[in-house]
Amino acid sequence: MNKSLAPIILLGPPGAGKGTQARVLEERHGLVQLSTGDLLRAAVKQGSALGREARTYMDAGKLVPDDLIIRIIADWMQKPEAQKGFILDGFPRTQAQAKALDAMLEKKNLKLRGVIEMKVNDPALIERVCGRFTCSKCGEGYHDKFKPPKKPGVCDKCGNTQFVRRPDDNAETMKTRLEAYYAQTAPIIPYYEKRGILYHVDGMAGVEEVTKQVEEVLKRI
Ligand code: AMP
Repeated sequence: MNKSLAPIILLGPPGAGKGTQARVLEERHGLVQLSTGDLLRAAVKQGSALGREARTYMDAGKLVPDDLIIRIIADWMQKPEAQKGFILDGFPRTQAQAKALDAMLEKKNLKLRGVIEMKVNDPALIERVCGRFTCSKCGEGYHDKFKPPKKPGVCDKCGNTQFVRRPDDNAETMKTRLEAYYAQTAPIIPYYEKRGILYHVDGMAGVEEVTKQVEEVLKRI
């Protein structure tokens, strides 16, 4: 099997830096980021039936039901992007999703390359999530305290002056999102550990250091 086609899972609580690292890996390795959160936000924006259903859960910080998410992933797997190696960001988040993923990959004759767990403590997660925003045009990520645009109000990358904040990036919703993570997502970690495909990076480190650690893992797997 060609290992560059085998999917990688980035696993960690909201704000751990999964999306940031997935985008770096996309650029460096030509992998494709598959973020269920992004797919759901696009469906909400379109106002599709799926988006309307998902929105109530997302706004409350709760997980969207498994059957809906599994359907979204199964559809995505049919797309041309899925023929490249992909990085799963925000999926799987429950035991049922982890099992469904295994079944989908088996059908495609693919095996997981590895699961990279990003650990960050709760106060840091809350601080990161509550201050983040993105450029509405190019999607570059910023933070009020850690990474403000160099020129206030102007995107460093594309010069755009419009930014967006996620409605669920607030302290109250974050509490529910963290509870969901510890109750429903963290229990899948042993599932991968037992299979010997679980790796760790220090998510508390700066973005570049985390990337370095992720690259080290990728060399080994
Ligand atoms: P994220 O962008 O990964 O933080 O996801 C934002 C929100 O989308 C989550 O709080 C959930 O409501 C929903 N969501 C994203 N991925 C999943 C998933 N795999 N399972 C259930 N809900 C999800």
